[in-house]
Amino acid sequence: MTYVCITFFVLLFLNFYTAGTSRQLFCKSKETAMIERCHLAAGELADLEVFSTSTVSNAFSRMGSQSLSRILVTNQSGQVIYDSQEENSAVGKNALFPVIVYALRGNDVFSWQFQNRAMYSQAATPIYAYGTLIGAVYMAEYNSQQGALMQSLQVNILSITLVLEAVVIVFSMIYAATFSRRLRKIMESIRIIREGDYSHQVAMGGNDELTVLGNEFNAMAQRLQTSEQKRQQFVSDASHELKTPLASIKLLSDSILQNDMDMETVREFVSDIGEEAERLNRMSQKLLSLSSIDSQVSADCEILNIAPTVIRVVKMLEGIAKAGDIAVTLDVQDVCPVLIVEDDLYQIAFNLIENGIKYNIPGGTLSVRVYRDGENAVLQVTDSGVGIPEEAMSHLFERFYRVDKARSRSSGGSGLGLAIVYNLVRRHQGEITVSSSLGHGSSFRVVFPIFDTEEAES
Ligand code: ADP
Repeated sequence: MTYVCITFFVLLFLNFYTAGTSRQLFCKSKETAMIERCHLAAGELADLEVFSTSTVSNAFSRMGSQSLSRILVTNQSGQVIYDSQEENSAVGKNALFPVIVYALRGNDVFSWQFQNRAMYSQAATPIYAYGTLIGAVYMAEYNSQQGALMQSLQVNILSITLVLEAVVIVFSMIYAATFSRRLRKIMESIRIIREGDYSHQVAMGGNDELTVLGNEFNAMAQRLQTSEQKRQQFVSDASHELKTPLASIKLLSDSILQNDMDMETVREFVSDIGEEAERLNRMSQKLLSLSSIDSQVSADCEILNIAPTVIRVVKMLEGIAKAGDIAVTLDVQDVCPVLIVEDDLYQIAFNLIENGIKYNIPGGTLSVRVYRDGENAVLQVTDSGVGIPEEAMSHLFERFYRVDKARSRSSGGSGLGLAIVYNLVRRHQGEITVSSSLGHGSSFRVVFPIFDTEEAES
């Protein structure tokens, strides 16, 4: 409707403008021609020795009728001395038409009007003889042909305007119908997605902004579907993982209740129940930690040299390493300030170093290095342990993924440690890479951008 209204007013304006301009041009040329004819006649009359009805009539007989509907000549007081119209002749009367009055004041005058579909134009000019005003010549033309031409021109312009407006209305309606049909399609798809069918895709067709909107919508729906699948997978994995220690606890407690056991065996069973409860506790803590990484938008970061925290973690895990006969070497080369939350850095270092001990072999080595590499701070944890098979590398950072389930579980693993590390590293604009050789060991490299206070201040 807006387009229709806009085009309607534009066309209406063009219609008036062209009609008015053509009429003006037409009248201008008419005015020039009529005034010229009056000047010619006035020139002829000025040369007359005697300015009277007979001499003026003779002069006009010489000039011819000039296809005019009426010619009047007056003396300087406005009295008609010549009238081309013989019936009801005005000779002798005072012709006080406004055009003649103006001409007698020394002006060239022209006026026109439409009368009964004909163009009625009048012109009058003064007659000067030797610089003295002696009268005025007046000419009138009643031209029905020119009137008809003028009218047909205006009718044609109006018809073109109406046809164009009709075309605009038809096209606007077709366009509006197609546009709203496609919009309804997108709205219908939004409703389907809102109701939970994330697999739905909208087929927009065409090649315009709505097609781009449709493609963006499909990408969003696909993203929603992926995260929904991940969520469902996570929930089912989490409940499965929690079920295992719970089942063990139930089995162990049932055995204690049903069997007549000696105190030693009961103690052993209760200690197993304690271990399983401890595993459950660790797992729920890790799950909580994962969900808080997901939901937390910003944390209280501080500029921190990473070395002291890493040293603290190594000290903490030294005992377990010694128990597993693993030699730990710590190599801190540079001061590496990064923008991070200390607890997060502790957790990253703890999980990586703990894994390096857990998945190592007796008599193996574990090297922990902190150094600067250009604009980056690097924490590298390299072990000489069991290594990771090639096919497992791409799944390593997935939640609940474990290469060797039996080994991981026996060492208290939940498959959540590396997922936590990955999320924390990403949260602090860092990157983690891993290289491994099966049977020879693995190396985890975490990189954070250096945050130099001097640079930041400058
Ligand atoms: P978990 O709690 O089972 O250790 P992680 O997420 O920390 O879970 O690790 C995922 C899996 O990756 C582990 O189960 C293990 O199979 C493998 N893995 C992690 N670190 C190492 C390592 N340093 N050497 C060999 N395998 C490792």
